Amino acid sequence: ENTTVVIVGGGVAGLALGTFLLRDGIDCVVLERQSRQYVEQRQRAGVVDSRAARMFRERGLADRVLGGVPFEPLLNFRVDGETRPLAYATDDHGDGRFCPQQVLVRNLIDVFLGEGGDLRFEAEDVTPEDVDGPRPRVRYRDGAGVTHTLDCAYVAGCDGDHGVSRASIPEGILARHSHEYGYAWLTVLADAPANHQSMMAIHERGFAGQFARGPLASRFYLQCPLDTAVEEWTDDRVWEEVEARFGEPVAVRGPITAKTLVPLRSVVHDPMTYGRLYLLGDAAHLVPPMSAKGMNLALHDADVFAAAVLRKVSEGDASLLEAYSATCLKHVWNYQAFAAWFTDLMHDAGDVSYRGEFRRRLARAEFERLHGSESANRLFGEFLTGLN
Ligand code: FAD
Repeated sequence: ENTTVVIVGGGVAGLALGTFLLRDGIDCVVLERQSRQYVEQRQRAGVVDSRAARMFRERGLADRVLGGVPFEPLLNFRVDGETRPLAYATDDHGDGRFCPQQVLVRNLIDVFLGEGGDLRFEAEDVTPEDVDGPRPRVRYRDGAGVTHTLDCAYVAGCDGDHGVSRASIPEGILARHSHEYGYAWLTVLADAPANHQSMMAIHERGFAGQFARGPLASRFYLQCPLDTAVEEWTDDRVWEEVEARFGEPVAVRGPITAKTLVPLRSVVHDPMTYGRLYLLGDAAHLVPPMSAKGMNLALHDADVFAAAVLRKVSEGDASLLEAYSATCLKHVWNYQAFAAWFTDLMHDAGDVSYRGEFRRRLARAEFERLHGSESANRLFGEFLTGLN
């Protein structure tokens, strides 16, 4: 079989890329290891920023793929148990959305398949081959155990941090730049409606967050040590800790449906290409979830890569493909800087056991500046809504 682009991974980056290529008239096949049901139910991110929403609108897709509700330019902080709302300045109202990742994924699958896209679930042992030559191949086994080979011009590695694409690149080609923040988040999904779209606590016991996931559910986050185990967090302990850090009872202690631990880290792999293999999204970079930018960076990569392939296929001009890694990395590092700053601020300002009293006072000064300085507030708003 022949196609122009084999896309490994049918998550946010892979499905967005597939949809863009298909609508630009470029052949592609998406290979996804999991079942359709599994990817449509995988809950993770919840914010599509204004830049990403605008990208969908410009491609005529916003109404079909974006669910959820528009986000207000307001963050509700609780500092030492007191309410400190922060309205942020932005010229860009109304585009960004609280759109659960699985809703975006489900809608992208519907559009892609509805327009005749080739999406193969339960593809096992996906193996990119000869990506450093002129005609790469991708092998995989289907659910019936039959092996297939796809010849292609390009491989798009959209298979996340633990995928096969980056792992298939020989040792020593990519540099890995990373930073460990030294703590984890216990992430909790509960059938508990939120009073606000978002609420974030700065507290000596550590950071806590609550983000609406639709009208009836919330995602809670609790800063905790890296060596904690999920089993140590009974439902009662979760609620007690959330309430202690917010300094008020939650509206409803609804059933908890999932608990996981996420160590906070930043990672960038450079370059984001090897031969004809291009890495997109989490396969190339991770940002700490405090920034809510992981999904948005994945969408940015898909936008840049789709435009680059289109230019090459329609005009024979490879310049955008050659610039792909540099273009994306410039954007990625700008967001890594924002993510590291915001992550440090929100954690340092509370629990002093990680970085001490000096850092706590610096972080509190940074926090106050967001309220007191119009310039600082505007820059913060620019990052939250998404820079171009
Ligand atoms: P994914 O969405 O992970 O897609 C990768 C796909 O590749 C998956 O479908 C996977 O099944 C498939 N795959 C993997 N290996 C193979 C293989 N060998 N063969 C074929 N297919 C394969 N981001 C935010 O912006 N805001 C948030 O609030 C936020 N919260 C998060 C909370 C949690 C608990 C986690 C884990 C992440 C969170 N993120 C958040 C990050 C966000 O989910 C990711 O950045 C985003 O999903 C990246 O998209 P992607 O397409 O690169 O990867």
